[in-house]
Amino acid sequence: MNALIIDSSSSYRQMLAKLLESYSITTVAVNTVDDAAPAIQHQHFDIICITINLTGNDSLDFCREVRQHHSYKHIPIIMLTPAKEAETNKLALEAGVTDLFHKQDFSGFQLYIENMVERLNAENSNSGQILYIEDSASTAFLVTSTLEDNGYHVDHFLTAEEGMEAFNNNYYDLLLTDVVLTDLSGLVVVRAVRDSVSEDKKSTPIIAISSFNDNARKLELFSAGINDYVTKPVMNEELLARIGNLVQSRQLLTSLNNKQEQLERLALTDQLTSLYNRHYLMDMAPKRIQQAQRQKQFLCLMVIDIDFFKVINDTHGHSVGDTVLQAVAAQLVSGVRWEDIVARFGGEEFVVLLDHCSFQDAINIAEDLRQSIEKLKPAGIDVSASFGLATLKEDENDFASLFSRADEAVYEAKESGRNCVVFKQ
Ligand code: GH3
Ligand code: MG
Ligand code: MG
Ligand code: MG
Repeated sequence: MNALIIDSSSSYRQMLAKLLESYSITTVAVNTVDDAAPAIQHQHFDIICITINLTGNDSLDFCREVRQHHSYKHIPIIMLTPAKEAETNKLALEAGVTDLFHKQDFSGFQLYIENMVERLNAENSNSGQILYIEDSASTAFLVTSTLEDNGYHVDHFLTAEEGMEAFNNNYYDLLLTDVVLTDLSGLVVVRAVRDSVSEDKKSTPIIAISSFNDNARKLELFSAGINDYVTKPVMNEELLARIGNLVQSRQLLTSLNNKQEQLERLALTDQLTSLYNRHYLMDMAPKRIQQAQRQKQFLCLMVIDIDFFKVINDTHGHSVGDTVLQAVAAQLVSGVRWEDIVARFGGEEFVVLLDHCSFQDAINIAEDLRQSIEKLKPAGIDVSASFGLATLKEDENDFASLFSRADEAVYEAKESGRNCVVFKQ
């Protein structure tokens, strides 16, 4: 980035240059507006910092003149004033100045530069998927090139029907739609998006583009759910700024939602084995019990405790113990249906809640699991587990009582020599 500094005091010029250079902005510093004029002919600047009252009204005239140049229409022109006066402010803003700072207000100026640099960097690193529906091929060509030049990926369609098909099949950060289309109106597109079943699609930001500038149409589009409205002919900088704002908040929201999901998943799963944790089981079990009673379906609970696990830990070390836990967990998951809940209840104790499963089926499953664990030999070690089984009684609505029967059964399995299945009706 380049900045042009215009100030008559060499020490002030140096101070400004130092500040700007600390944000990796290269500077050219000149004494007067007469020196500035040739400078802007030879080189493009991304920002101009100018002091007022260089000599008379020169600085304001210079600002007005600069704004006439096509390439200087949208850059920030910052004016530094020795005194802040309302009248000067007004004149400066009318002359095309973007913002004014008191010459001594270095921190205000610095904050402005900081924000500007951040914004320009963000704009230059745009990455967003845009769906664009526009029936005029020439307008579409211009808009698409502008967006692509600024880092966006654009899928353009000439009809609403094709556009909506793409919308339904892909993820987009933003939908840009023309209002008058050959097949359907943009309004129909907006309504269809806002009626999406998926929350993610429903909340896609929408910008409507139209050569119409009547309030009734705008109002209708806004009440249908557009986020912004841009009038044709499109001013590139304005369109980019509006798109940038919406895409940024959309991406922020998506990343927040992902983090939220990640946190929820973390809170419900056991880190070592990736099984559900006790907390999840305690939350889900009463719901499954209620459902089973309502549908008059079988439900069984299996408690599994690894035999002599303490010896495994003591003999082979804690990390081998961890490997054993992971292997047993994976074996349990692979031996039951996906809708069954497999949870790590405590250290080397697991629980499986089997839906729609008769007592006899549960006994068979437990026996199969017991045998598969016996054959597993994780880290080359002989491992076995004891199984306790209980089935939900008629009118039993309490997880604790079901659990205590399965737990008693495990205890009995341990008593009768371990590596076996004990069931309690
Ligand atoms: P039993 O056959 O009677 O069940 O004997 P056991 O040794 O399996 O049972 P005990 O309850 O005496 O020991 C369980 C051991 O599990 C003790 C504890 O240090 C260990 N343990 C608990 N959580 C973990 C873990 O996350 N990783 C490892 N490696 N060990 C764990
Ligand atoms: Mg059109
Ligand atoms: Mg135990
Ligand atoms: Mg044990």
